[in-house]
Amino acid sequence: VHGFEDKRVGVLGLGRSGLSAARALKEGGAVPVCWDDNPDARAKAEAEGFEIAELARGQVMDGLSWLVVSPGIPHLYPTPNPVIRAAWGAGVPVDNDIGLFFRALSHAGWEEFDTIPRVVAVTGSNGKSTTSALIHHILTHANRASQLAGNIGRGVLDIDPPEDGGVVVLELSSYQTDLARSLTPDIAVFTNLSPDHLDRHGGPGGYFAAKRRLFAEGGPDRAIIGVDEDEGQFMVNQLVDVPSDDRVIRVSSGQKLTGPGWMVFARKGFLSEWRKGRQVGSIDLRDIRGLPGAHNHQNACAAYAACRCLGLAPRVIEAAFASFEGLPHRSQLIAEANGVTFVNDSKATNVDSAAKALLAFKNIRWVCGGLQKEGGLDGLSEGLANVAKAYVIGREAAGFALQLQGVEAEICTHMDVAVAKAIEEAQPGDVVLLAPAAASFDQYDNFEKRGEAFAAAVRAKLG
Ligand code: ADP
Repeated sequence: VHGFEDKRVGVLGLGRSGLSAARALKEGGAVPVCWDDNPDARAKAEAEGFEIAELARGQVMDGLSWLVVSPGIPHLYPTPNPVIRAAWGAGVPVDNDIGLFFRALSHAGWEEFDTIPRVVAVTGSNGKSTTSALIHHILTHANRASQLAGNIGRGVLDIDPPEDGGVVVLELSSYQTDLARSLTPDIAVFTNLSPDHLDRHGGPGGYFAAKRRLFAEGGPDRAIIGVDEDEGQFMVNQLVDVPSDDRVIRVSSGQKLTGPGWMVFARKGFLSEWRKGRQVGSIDLRDIRGLPGAHNHQNACAAYAACRCLGLAPRVIEAAFASFEGLPHRSQLIAEANGVTFVNDSKATNVDSAAKALLAFKNIRWVCGGLQKEGGLDGLSEGLANVAKAYVIGREAAGFALQLQGVEAEICTHMDVAVAKAIEEAQPGDVVLLAPAAASFDQYDNFEKRGEAFAAAVRAKLG
Protein backbone atom coordinates (compact mmCIF):
# COMPACT_ATOMS: atom_id res chain seq x y z
CA VAL A 1 0.00 0.00 0.00
CA HIS A 2 1.48 3.29 -1.10
CA GLY A 3 0.62 6.82 -0.12
CA PHE A 4 1.94 6.51 3.43
CA GLU A 5 5.70 6.57 2.78
CA ASP A 6 7.66 7.27 5.99
CA LYS A 7 4.40 7.90 7.86
CA ARG A 8 3.51 6.21 11.12
CA VAL A 9 0.27 4.27 10.69
CA GLY A 10 -1.48 2.67 13.67
CA VAL A 11 -2.74 -0.89 13.30
CA LEU A 12 -5.27 -1.88 15.96
CA GLY A 13 -6.07 -5.59 16.21
CA LEU A 14 -3.43 -8.06 15.10
CA GLY A 15 -5.47 -10.93 13.70
CA ARG A 16 -5.33 -12.00 10.07
CA SER A 17 -6.45 -8.72 8.54
CA GLY A 18 -4.42 -6.57 10.97
CA LEU A 19 -1.18 -8.40 10.26
CA SER A 20 -1.75 -8.33 6.54
CA ALA A 21 -2.41 -4.56 6.74
CA ALA A 22 0.81 -4.08 8.72
CA ARG A 23 2.78 -6.05 6.13
CA ALA A 24 1.27 -4.19 3.17
CA LEU A 25 1.92 -0.84 4.82
CA LYS A 26 5.52 -1.74 5.55
CA GLU A 27 6.07 -2.91 1.98
CA GLY A 28 4.84 0.46 0.78
CA GLY A 29 7.35 2.29 2.98
CA ALA A 30 5.10 3.19 5.93
CA VAL A 31 5.99 2.53 9.56
CA PRO A 32 3.21 0.43 11.10
CA VAL A 33 2.73 0.89 14.84
CA CYS A 34 0.81 -2.08 16.17
CA TRP A 35 -1.40 -2.82 19.15
CA ASP A 36 -3.70 -5.60 20.32
CA ASP A 37 -5.04 -6.03 23.86
CA ASN A 38 -4.09 -9.70 23.64
CA PRO A 39 -0.39 -10.20 24.60
CA ASP A 40 -0.10 -13.32 22.39
CA ALA A 41 -1.17 -11.38 19.32
CA ARG A 42 1.32 -8.63 20.20
CA ALA A 43 4.11 -11.17 20.60
CA LYS A 44 3.38 -12.57 17.14
CA ALA A 45 3.59 -9.13 15.53
CA GLU A 46 6.74 -8.29 17.47
CA ALA A 47 8.35 -11.52 16.26
CA GLU A 48 7.72 -10.28 12.69
CA GLY A 49 9.66 -7.14 13.53
CA PHE A 50 6.75 -4.72 13.91
CA GLU A 51 6.87 -1.88 16.38
CA ILE A 52 4.46 -2.38 19.27
CA ALA A 53 3.03 0.58 21.18
CA GLU A 54 -0.07 1.20 23.24
CA LEU A 55 -1.95 3.32 20.75
CA ALA A 56 -4.33 4.99 23.20
CA ARG A 57 -1.40 6.85 24.80
CA GLY A 58 -1.45 10.51 23.78
CA GLN A 59 2.08 10.91 22.47
CA VAL A 60 1.86 7.71 20.41
CA MET A 61 -1.46 8.79 18.91
CA ASP A 62 -0.15 12.26 18.09
CA GLY A 63 2.53 10.79 15.87
CA LEU A 64 0.07 8.78 13.72
CA SER A 65 -1.20 9.85 10.32
CA TRP A 66 -3.80 7.06 9.94
CA LEU A 67 -5.33 4.28 12.05
CA VAL A 68 -6.30 0.88 10.59
CA VAL A 69 -8.78 -1.10 12.69
CA SER A 70 -9.69 -4.82 12.52
CA PRO A 71 -13.32 -5.72 11.81
CA GLY A 72 -13.78 -7.44 15.18
CA ILE A 73 -13.26 -4.22 17.12
CA PRO A 74 -16.36 -2.13 17.94
CA HIS A 75 -16.03 1.41 16.61
CA LEU A 76 -19.41 2.81 17.58
CA TYR A 77 -21.76 0.34 19.28
CA PRO A 78 -22.09 -0.79 22.01
CA THR A 79 -19.17 1.55 22.85
CA PRO A 80 -16.16 2.55 20.77
CA ASN A 81 -12.80 1.06 21.57
CA PRO A 82 -10.68 3.58 23.59
CA VAL A 83 -8.02 3.69 20.84
CA ILE A 84 -10.65 4.75 18.32
CA ARG A 85 -11.88 7.44 20.69
CA ALA A 86 -8.31 8.65 21.12
CA ALA A 87 -7.91 8.79 17.32
CA TRP A 88 -11.06 10.88 16.94
CA GLY A 89 -9.79 13.21 19.65
CA ALA A 90 -6.43 13.58 17.92
CA GLY A 91 -7.93 13.99 14.44
CA VAL A 92 -6.35 10.76 13.13
CA PRO A 93 -8.45 9.22 10.29
CA VAL A 94 -9.83 5.79 11.24
CA ASP A 95 -10.01 3.19 8.45
CA ASN A 96 -9.72 -0.56 7.81
CA ASP A 97 -7.99 -2.89 5.36
CA ILE A 98 -10.87 -2.62 2.88
CA GLY A 99 -10.55 1.17 2.86
CA LEU A 100 -6.79 0.87 2.34
CA PHE A 101 -7.36 -1.50 -0.58
CA PHE A 102 -9.74 0.85 -2.42
CA ARG A 103 -7.55 3.83 -1.60
CA ALA A 104 -4.58 2.03 -3.09
CA LEU A 105 -6.56 1.09 -6.21
CA SER A 106 -7.45 4.69 -6.89
CA HIS A 107 -3.96 5.90 -6.00
CA ALA A 108 -2.23 6.60 -9.29
CA GLY A 109 1.18 5.51 -8.07
CA TRP A 110 0.20 2.11 -6.83
CA GLU A 111 2.75 -0.26 -8.30
CA GLU A 112 1.40 -3.56 -7.13
CA PHE A 113 -1.22 -3.63 -9.87
CA ASP A 114 -0.18 -3.37 -13.52
CA THR A 115 -3.79 -3.03 -14.56
CA ILE A 116 -6.66 -1.86 -12.45
CA PRO A 117 -8.78 -4.93 -11.63
CA ARG A 118 -12.54 -4.95 -11.71
CA VAL A 119 -13.83 -5.24 -8.19
CA VAL A 120 -17.14 -6.87 -7.31
CA ALA A 121 -18.24 -6.31 -3.70
CA VAL A 122 -20.97 -8.44 -2.13
CA THR A 123 -22.85 -7.41 0.98
CA GLY A 124 -26.18 -8.23 2.66
CA SER A 125 -27.39 -10.14 5.71
CA ASN A 126 -27.40 -13.69 4.33
CA GLY A 127 -25.95 -15.33 1.26
CA LYS A 128 -22.81 -13.19 0.97
CA SER A 129 -20.36 -16.10 1.10
CA THR A 130 -22.39 -18.29 -1.22
CA THR A 131 -22.91 -15.48 -3.74
CA SER A 132 -19.25 -14.41 -3.65
CA ALA A 133 -18.01 -17.99 -4.00
CA LEU A 134 -20.44 -18.59 -6.86
CA ILE A 135 -19.30 -15.49 -8.77
CA HIS A 136 -15.69 -16.60 -8.31
CA HIS A 137 -16.58 -20.13 -9.44
CA ILE A 138 -18.34 -18.91 -12.59
CA LEU A 139 -15.46 -16.59 -13.53
CA THR A 140 -12.89 -19.32 -12.96
CA HIS A 141 -14.98 -21.76 -14.96
CA ALA A 142 -15.07 -19.21 -17.80
CA ASN A 143 -11.26 -18.82 -17.64
CA ARG A 144 -11.40 -15.30 -16.26
CA ALA A 145 -8.73 -14.62 -13.64
CA SER A 146 -10.56 -14.15 -10.36
CA GLN A 147 -9.56 -13.85 -6.71
CA LEU A 148 -11.88 -14.25 -3.75
CA ALA A 149 -11.11 -12.01 -0.79
CA GLY A 150 -12.46 -10.12 2.22
CA ASN A 151 -14.59 -12.10 4.64
CA ILE A 152 -14.02 -15.24 2.58
CA GLY A 153 -10.85 -16.41 0.90
CA ARG A 154 -7.80 -14.24 1.51
CA GLY A 155 -7.35 -10.96 3.31
CA VAL A 156 -7.85 -8.21 0.75
CA LEU A 157 -4.32 -6.91 1.19
CA ASP A 158 -2.91 -10.42 0.70
CA ILE A 159 -4.17 -10.98 -2.85
CA ASP A 160 -1.82 -11.37 -5.79
CA PRO A 161 -1.49 -8.57 -8.31
CA PRO A 162 -4.42 -9.26 -10.65
CA GLU A 163 -3.75 -10.15 -14.27
CA ASP A 164 -5.03 -8.10 -17.15
CA GLY A 165 -8.81 -8.27 -17.09
CA GLY A 166 -8.69 -9.89 -13.66
CA VAL A 167 -11.53 -9.61 -11.17
CA VAL A 168 -11.42 -9.34 -7.39
CA VAL A 169 -14.58 -10.65 -5.71
CA LEU A 170 -14.88 -9.19 -2.23
CA GLU A 171 -17.27 -10.41 0.43
CA LEU A 172 -17.90 -7.53 2.82
CA SER A 173 -19.66 -7.67 6.18
CA SER A 174 -21.49 -4.64 7.51
CA TYR A 175 -18.65 -4.11 10.01
CA GLN A 176 -16.26 -3.72 7.11
CA THR A 177 -18.42 -1.46 4.95
CA ASP A 178 -19.20 0.71 7.95
CA LEU A 179 -15.63 1.70 8.69
CA ALA A 180 -13.91 1.70 5.29
CA ARG A 181 -13.13 5.29 4.25
CA SER A 182 -12.93 4.38 0.56
CA LEU A 183 -15.48 2.03 -0.91
CA THR A 184 -15.51 2.15 -4.69
CA PRO A 185 -16.26 -1.25 -6.25
CA ASP A 186 -17.15 -1.39 -9.96
CA ILE A 187 -20.04 -3.71 -9.22
CA ALA A 188 -21.82 -3.83 -5.87
CA VAL A 189 -24.23 -6.58 -4.83
CA PHE A 190 -26.77 -6.38 -2.00
CA THR A 191 -28.34 -9.77 -1.32
CA ASN A 192 -30.99 -9.14 1.34
CA LEU A 193 -31.56 -7.67 4.78
CA SER A 194 -32.58 -9.41 7.98
CA PRO A 195 -32.22 -8.31 11.59
CA ASP A 196 -28.87 -9.83 12.53
CA HIS A 197 -25.89 -8.05 14.08
CA LEU A 198 -28.09 -5.14 15.08
CA ASP A 199 -26.34 -4.57 18.40
CA ARG A 200 -23.10 -3.41 16.80
CA HIS A 201 -24.84 -0.86 14.60
CA GLY A 202 -27.17 0.67 17.15
CA GLY A 203 -30.33 -0.86 15.66
CA PRO A 204 -31.73 -1.60 12.23
CA GLY A 205 -31.23 1.92 10.85
CA GLY A 206 -27.49 1.86 11.49
CA TYR A 207 -27.12 -1.63 10.10
CA PHE A 208 -28.93 -0.73 6.90
CA ALA A 209 -26.91 2.48 6.61
CA ALA A 210 -23.66 0.48 6.85
CA LYS A 211 -24.73 -1.74 3.96
CA ARG A 212 -26.05 1.15 1.92
CA ARG A 213 -22.72 2.95 1.93
CA LEU A 214 -21.65 0.72 -0.95
CA PHE A 215 -24.37 2.17 -3.12
CA ALA A 216 -23.90 5.86 -2.40
CA GLU A 217 -24.30 8.48 -5.11
CA GLY A 218 -21.39 8.28 -7.55
CA GLY A 219 -20.87 4.70 -6.41
CA PRO A 220 -20.51 1.55 -8.47
CA ASP A 221 -20.96 1.33 -12.25
CA ARG A 222 -23.52 -1.36 -11.61
CA ALA A 223 -25.61 -2.04 -8.52
CA ILE A 224 -27.26 -5.44 -8.13
CA ILE A 225 -29.95 -5.19 -5.49
CA GLY A 226 -32.18 -7.84 -3.92
CA VAL A 227 -35.64 -6.30 -3.77
CA ASP A 228 -37.47 -8.91 -1.70
CA GLU A 229 -37.37 -6.57 1.31
CA ASP A 230 -38.56 -2.97 1.37
CA GLU A 231 -35.04 -1.78 2.11
CA GLY A 232 -33.88 -3.13 -1.27
CA GLN A 233 -36.73 -1.38 -3.05
CA PHE A 234 -35.81 1.81 -1.24
CA MET A 235 -32.19 1.56 -2.39
CA VAL A 236 -33.29 1.06 -6.00
CA ASN A 237 -35.49 4.11 -5.65
CA GLN A 238 -32.56 6.21 -4.46
CA LEU A 239 -30.40 5.18 -7.42
CA VAL A 240 -32.74 5.11 -10.39
CA ASP A 241 -34.09 8.23 -12.09
CA VAL A 242 -35.83 6.64 -15.07
CA PRO A 243 -37.24 3.10 -14.99
CA SER A 244 -35.14 2.00 -17.98
CA ASP A 245 -31.88 2.93 -16.21
CA ASP A 246 -29.75 -0.19 -16.38
CA ARG A 247 -27.10 0.85 -13.93
CA VAL A 248 -29.24 -1.03 -11.43
CA ILE A 249 -30.19 -4.69 -11.75
CA ARG A 250 -33.09 -5.78 -9.56
CA VAL A 251 -33.00 -9.32 -8.21
CA SER A 252 -35.76 -11.40 -6.66
CA SER A 253 -36.43 -14.92 -5.60
CA GLY A 254 -40.16 -15.52 -5.83
CA GLN A 255 -41.48 -12.34 -7.46
CA LYS A 256 -41.98 -11.81 -11.17
CA LEU A 257 -40.33 -8.43 -11.71
CA THR A 258 -41.56 -6.20 -14.51
CA GLY A 259 -40.65 -2.92 -16.18
CA PRO A 260 -38.27 -1.63 -18.83
CA GLY A 261 -35.13 -1.92 -16.66
CA TRP A 262 -32.71 -4.78 -16.13
CA MET A 263 -33.80 -7.58 -13.81
CA VAL A 264 -33.01 -11.16 -12.88
CA PHE A 265 -35.50 -13.22 -10.91
CA ALA A 266 -36.21 -16.83 -10.05
CA ARG A 267 -39.67 -18.34 -9.91
CA LYS A 268 -40.63 -21.96 -9.46
CA GLY A 269 -37.03 -22.99 -9.99
CA PHE A 270 -36.43 -21.02 -13.21
CA LEU A 271 -34.12 -18.03 -13.48
CA SER A 272 -35.08 -15.31 -15.99
CA GLU A 273 -33.19 -12.26 -17.13
CA TRP A 274 -35.12 -9.37 -18.66
CA ARG A 275 -33.71 -6.20 -20.16
CA LYS A 276 -35.55 -3.39 -21.90
CA GLY A 277 -38.80 -5.36 -21.78
CA ARG A 278 -37.36 -8.50 -23.42
CA GLN A 279 -36.33 -11.80 -21.94
CA VAL A 280 -32.64 -12.34 -22.71
CA GLY A 281 -31.76 -15.37 -20.60
CA SER A 282 -33.31 -18.28 -18.73
CA ILE A 283 -31.89 -21.18 -16.71
CA ASP A 284 -33.51 -24.19 -15.04
CA LEU A 285 -32.14 -24.18 -11.49
CA ARG A 286 -34.11 -27.13 -10.17
CA ASP A 287 -31.47 -29.82 -10.53
CA ILE A 288 -28.44 -27.82 -9.46
CA ARG A 289 -27.29 -29.73 -6.42
CA GLY A 290 -25.07 -27.00 -5.02
CA LEU A 291 -27.93 -24.47 -4.95
CA PRO A 292 -31.02 -25.99 -3.27
CA GLY A 293 -33.95 -23.84 -2.19
CA ALA A 294 -35.37 -20.42 -3.02
CA HIS A 295 -32.69 -18.68 -0.94
CA ASN A 296 -29.97 -20.20 -3.09
CA HIS A 297 -31.92 -19.20 -6.17
CA GLN A 298 -31.66 -15.63 -4.90
CA ASN A 299 -27.87 -16.11 -4.66
CA ALA A 300 -27.83 -17.63 -8.15
CA CYS A 301 -29.69 -14.61 -9.57
CA ALA A 302 -27.31 -12.15 -7.91
CA ALA A 303 -24.21 -14.04 -9.08
CA TYR A 304 -25.69 -14.37 -12.58
CA ALA A 305 -26.31 -10.62 -12.71
CA ALA A 306 -22.75 -9.83 -11.57
CA CYS A 307 -21.29 -12.12 -14.23
CA ARG A 308 -23.53 -10.63 -16.93
CA CYS A 309 -22.14 -7.21 -15.98
CA LEU A 310 -18.66 -8.67 -16.47
CA GLY A 311 -19.62 -9.71 -20.00
CA LEU A 312 -20.32 -13.43 -19.65
CA ALA A 313 -22.99 -15.10 -21.78
CA PRO A 314 -25.99 -16.81 -20.11
CA ARG A 315 -24.93 -20.23 -21.46
CA VAL A 316 -21.47 -19.89 -19.91
CA ILE A 317 -23.00 -19.07 -16.55
CA GLU A 318 -25.45 -21.96 -16.84
CA ALA A 319 -22.62 -24.43 -17.48
CA ALA A 320 -20.74 -23.16 -14.43
CA PHE A 321 -23.80 -23.45 -12.15
CA ALA A 322 -23.93 -27.19 -12.79
CA SER A 323 -20.49 -27.75 -11.29
CA PHE A 324 -20.94 -25.52 -8.23
CA GLU A 325 -20.78 -27.68 -5.14
CA GLY A 326 -21.88 -25.11 -2.58
CA LEU A 327 -19.90 -24.13 0.48
CA PRO A 328 -19.31 -26.30 3.53
CA HIS A 329 -21.92 -25.79 6.28
CA ARG A 330 -24.37 -23.96 3.97
CA SER A 331 -27.16 -26.27 2.74
CA GLN A 332 -24.38 -28.80 2.19
CA LEU A 333 -25.38 -32.29 1.14
CA ILE A 334 -23.21 -34.58 3.26
CA ALA A 335 -24.70 -38.08 2.84
CA GLU A 336 -27.52 -40.16 1.39
CA ALA A 337 -28.48 -43.54 2.83
CA ASN A 338 -31.62 -45.69 2.67
CA GLY A 339 -33.49 -42.94 0.85
CA VAL A 340 -32.67 -40.39 3.58
CA THR A 341 -30.72 -37.24 2.73
CA PHE A 342 -28.42 -35.48 5.22
CA VAL A 343 -27.89 -31.72 4.93
CA ASN A 344 -25.51 -29.60 7.00
CA ASP A 345 -26.62 -25.96 7.26
CA SER A 346 -24.73 -25.18 10.47
CA LYS A 347 -24.21 -21.62 9.19
CA ALA A 348 -27.94 -21.02 9.75
CA THR A 349 -27.14 -19.16 12.95
CA ASN A 350 -30.10 -16.80 12.71
CA VAL A 351 -33.84 -17.30 12.30
CA ASP A 352 -33.98 -15.96 8.76
CA SER A 353 -31.41 -18.36 7.34
CA ALA A 354 -32.93 -21.33 9.20
CA ALA A 355 -36.39 -20.37 7.91
CA LYS A 356 -34.99 -20.42 4.36
CA ALA A 357 -33.49 -23.86 4.92
CA LEU A 358 -36.83 -25.20 6.19
CA LEU A 359 -38.52 -23.87 3.06
CA ALA A 360 -35.92 -25.54 0.83
CA PHE A 361 -36.76 -29.13 1.84
CA LYS A 362 -39.76 -31.31 2.73
CA ASN A 363 -40.23 -34.08 5.36
CA ILE A 364 -37.53 -32.57 7.54
CA ARG A 365 -36.06 -34.21 10.64
CA TRP A 366 -34.78 -30.93 12.00
CA VAL A 367 -31.73 -30.73 14.26
CA CYS A 368 -31.92 -27.27 15.85
CA GLY A 369 -31.12 -25.21 18.93
CA GLY A 370 -28.13 -23.51 20.51
CA LEU A 371 -27.47 -20.01 21.72
CA GLN A 372 -30.50 -18.00 20.67
CA LYS A 373 -30.33 -14.52 19.22
CA GLU A 374 -32.57 -11.63 20.19
CA GLY A 375 -36.13 -11.76 18.94
CA GLY A 376 -36.79 -15.47 19.64
CA LEU A 377 -38.03 -17.72 16.87
CA ASP A 378 -40.56 -15.36 15.28
CA GLY A 379 -40.34 -15.74 11.54
CA LEU A 380 -39.92 -19.50 11.39
CA SER A 381 -43.60 -20.30 11.14
CA GLU A 382 -44.04 -20.92 7.40
CA GLY A 383 -41.16 -23.39 7.21
CA LEU A 384 -42.35 -25.33 10.24
CA ALA A 385 -45.00 -26.96 8.04
CA ASN A 386 -42.16 -28.91 6.38
CA VAL A 387 -40.87 -30.29 9.67
CA ALA A 388 -41.77 -33.89 10.57
CA LYS A 389 -40.05 -33.57 13.93
CA ALA A 390 -37.52 -31.35 15.71
CA TYR A 391 -34.53 -32.77 17.62
CA VAL A 392 -33.37 -29.98 19.88
CA ILE A 393 -29.75 -29.55 20.94
CA GLY A 394 -27.98 -26.93 23.06
CA ARG A 395 -27.70 -26.02 26.71
CA GLU A 396 -31.10 -24.29 26.56
CA ALA A 397 -32.77 -27.07 24.58
CA ALA A 398 -35.89 -27.15 26.77
CA GLY A 399 -36.49 -23.41 26.41
CA PHE A 400 -35.94 -23.63 22.65
CA ALA A 401 -38.35 -26.56 22.29
CA LEU A 402 -41.07 -24.66 24.18
CA GLN A 403 -41.10 -21.99 21.47
CA LEU A 404 -41.76 -24.52 18.69
CA GLN A 405 -45.49 -24.48 18.67
CA GLY A 406 -47.35 -27.06 16.62
CA VAL A 407 -44.22 -29.12 15.97
CA GLU A 408 -43.31 -32.39 17.64
CA ALA A 409 -40.03 -31.66 19.43
CA GLU A 410 -37.72 -33.87 21.41
CA ILE A 411 -35.12 -32.49 23.78
CA CYS A 412 -31.85 -34.20 22.86
CA THR A 413 -29.32 -31.61 24.15
CA HIS A 414 -26.36 -33.35 22.46
CA MET A 415 -25.65 -33.64 18.75
CA ASP A 416 -24.99 -37.38 18.71
CA VAL A 417 -28.25 -38.08 20.56
CA ALA A 418 -30.20 -35.87 18.13
CA VAL A 419 -28.65 -37.45 15.04
CA ALA A 420 -29.11 -41.01 16.33
CA LYS A 421 -32.81 -40.39 17.08
CA ALA A 422 -33.40 -38.68 13.75
CA ILE A 423 -31.84 -41.59 11.87
CA GLU A 424 -33.83 -44.17 13.81
CA GLU A 425 -37.09 -42.41 13.06
CA ALA A 426 -36.42 -41.27 9.47
CA GLN A 427 -38.46 -42.71 6.58
CA PRO A 428 -37.26 -42.93 2.97
CA GLY A 429 -37.70 -39.50 1.40
CA ASP A 430 -36.93 -37.64 4.64
CA VAL A 431 -34.20 -35.04 5.00
CA VAL A 432 -32.18 -34.88 8.22
CA LEU A 433 -31.27 -31.20 8.36
CA LEU A 434 -28.98 -29.33 10.75
CA ALA A 435 -30.17 -25.69 10.59
CA PRO A 436 -29.90 -24.54 14.20
CA ALA A 437 -31.51 -21.03 14.08
CA ALA A 438 -29.03 -20.22 16.85
CA ALA A 439 -25.35 -19.53 17.43
CA SER A 440 -23.07 -22.40 18.37
CA PHE A 441 -21.04 -20.93 21.24
CA ASP A 442 -22.92 -22.68 24.05
CA GLN A 443 -21.47 -26.02 22.92
CA TYR A 444 -18.93 -25.38 20.13
CA ASP A 445 -16.10 -23.01 19.27
CA ASN A 446 -17.85 -21.98 16.08
CA PHE A 447 -20.44 -23.04 13.49
CA GLU A 448 -17.83 -25.00 11.55
CA LYS A 449 -17.10 -27.22 14.56
CA ARG A 450 -20.84 -27.74 15.05
CA GLY A 451 -21.24 -28.75 11.39
CA GLU A 452 -18.31 -31.15 11.67
CA ALA A 453 -19.86 -32.68 14.81
CA PHE A 454 -23.09 -33.24 12.86
CA ALA A 455 -21.25 -34.88 9.97
CA ALA A 456 -19.24 -37.05 12.37
CA ALA A 457 -22.40 -38.15 14.21
CA VAL A 458 -24.05 -39.05 10.88
CA ARG A 459 -21.00 -41.07 9.78
CA ALA A 460 -20.75 -42.83 13.15
CA LYS A 461 -24.40 -43.83 13.08
CA LEU A 462 -24.53 -44.87 9.43
CA GLY A 463 -21.31 -46.86 9.84
P1 ADP B 1 -23.23 -14.97 4.77
O1 ADP B 1 -21.85 -14.99 4.24
O2 ADP B 1 -23.99 -13.73 4.40
O3 ADP B 1 -23.37 -15.35 6.20
P2 ADP B 1 -23.72 -17.62 3.64
O4 ADP B 1 -23.70 -17.84 2.18
O5 ADP B 1 -22.54 -18.06 4.44
O6 ADP B 1 -24.03 -16.10 3.92
O7 ADP B 1 -25.02 -18.31 4.24
C1 ADP B 1 -25.36 -18.12 5.62
C2 ADP B 1 -26.60 -18.89 5.98
O8 ADP B 1 -27.73 -18.34 5.32
C3 ADP B 1 -26.58 -20.36 5.59
O9 ADP B 1 -27.34 -21.04 6.56
C4 ADP B 1 -27.26 -20.39 4.25
O10 ADP B 1 -27.86 -21.63 3.95
C5 ADP B 1 -28.29 -19.27 4.40
N1 ADP B 1 -28.47 -18.53 3.16
C6 ADP B 1 -27.68 -18.56 2.05
N2 ADP B 1 -28.16 -17.70 1.14
C7 ADP B 1 -29.26 -17.12 1.67
C8 ADP B 1 -30.18 -16.14 1.20
N3 ADP B 1 -30.06 -15.61 -0.02
N4 ADP B 1 -31.20 -15.78 2.03
C9 ADP B 1 -31.32 -16.33 3.26
N5 ADP B 1 -30.50 -17.26 3.75
C10 ADP B 1 -29.47 -17.64 2.97
